[in-house]
Amino acid sequence: MPQFLCYKLVDMRPPKLPTIIVWDLDQTMIGITENVLQLADLYKAVDFLQRAKDIPNHINMNIKHENYFETALQHLKDVPHFIRPHFKTALQSLKRSLSHCEFFVYSAGQADYVDTLIKYLEKETGVTFHRPIFSRKNTAISYNKSVDFTADAMIQSLVGKYPALKSPKNQKYVLDNGLLFVDDNDVLLTGKDQWIQCPKYSYNHVIDISTIFPKELLMEPKVIDFIISRNTFIIESNGKDKDLTADERRMIYHVNMAKLYQQVLVMNNEACKDDFLLRLSKAVKQVSTKRKTPFTVENVKKIRKLIDEMSKSKK
Ligand SMILES: [Mg+2]
Repeated sequence: MPQFLCYKLVDMRPPKLPTIIVWDLDQTMIGITENVLQLADLYKAVDFLQRAKDIPNHINMNIKHENYFETALQHLKDVPHFIRPHFKTALQSLKRSLSHCEFFVYSAGQADYVDTLIKYLEKETGVTFHRPIFSRKNTAISYNKSVDFTADAMIQSLVGKYPALKSPKNQKYVLDNGLLFVDDNDVLLTGKDQWIQCPKYSYNHVIDISTIFPKELLMEPKVIDFIISRNTFIIESNGKDKDLTADERRMIYHVNMAKLYQQVLVMNNEACKDDFLLRLSKAVKQVSTKRKTPFTVENVKKIRKLIDEMSKSKK
C-alpha cells in the first residue's frame, strides 16, 4: 500500500457553527399588550373578590387562577394581526437564507409574561425559539440588555447541536460575526453594531369587558371601584354618573366605546401595512449569500442600508 494512503485524512471542512438571531418581544414581534395585561389584572381582582365572598355567590364566574395572563391572552386567539405581519414567512425565510440559523428571545418583560407570550406565539405560528428565554432577570437594573448576560446560556443551549462551540475561539467567532439583535428600542449596553432597530409595531386590540364578564358582576360596587381606580376599561355603570338614567348610561357607554374603536382602527390600519420583517428577511438574504459570517459589523451596516432603501422605494 502506498505510504501516503496510510495518513489519516485531515478534515479541512470548516466546523459547523450556528448563526443566531436574538429577538425582542414587545412591539418587535407582537403589538401592544397593555389591554391584555389590564384584563389579567381585572380577572385577578374579580377572583380575589369572589374568594373573599365580596361578590354574591350566584353571580360568581369561573376563573382559572393559575395564570390570569394566560386566561386573558385567550382573547387574542382570533386577532392574527396582533402578531407582526409576515412573521412566519419572514422567519422561515431567514432560516433558509442563513446556514444553521437559531432564534432566541430577549425581552425586558417579566419572566412569566414573556414565557406565556412566547408559548402563544409558537403555538400560533409554528416558529420555535431556543430555551432559555431571556427576560427581565437577564437585564441590568435599568432593563438594559447585553450579550454578556446571555452568551454563556446561549452557547450551553447550542453546544449539543454544534460541538465545535466547545472551543472558546469558535464561541468568540459566532458571537462576533454570527449574532444579530432585533429590537425596537435602543437598550443594548454592548453589541450595538449587531443591532437592527425595527419600527415599533403598534397593533392594539380593544377589549370590551361587557362581552367577557356577566353584566351583574360588572354592576357590583367593588368591581366598579376597581375598574375606576385603575382607569382602564370603559364601563356602563360609573359611580360618578348617579344622576344619569340607565338608558343614558348605556348610550354614553356605546358612544365612548365607538370613539375608542375609531381611534384604534386608524392606528391598526397603519400597523397592518408594516413590512419590516419582510424587508429584514430580504436584506439578510442578499447579504448572506455564500457568506459564512453573515453578521459582521460591515454586513450589519449593509443590512440596515438595504432595509432603509426598501422602505424608501415603497414610498
Ligand atoms: Mg420592545
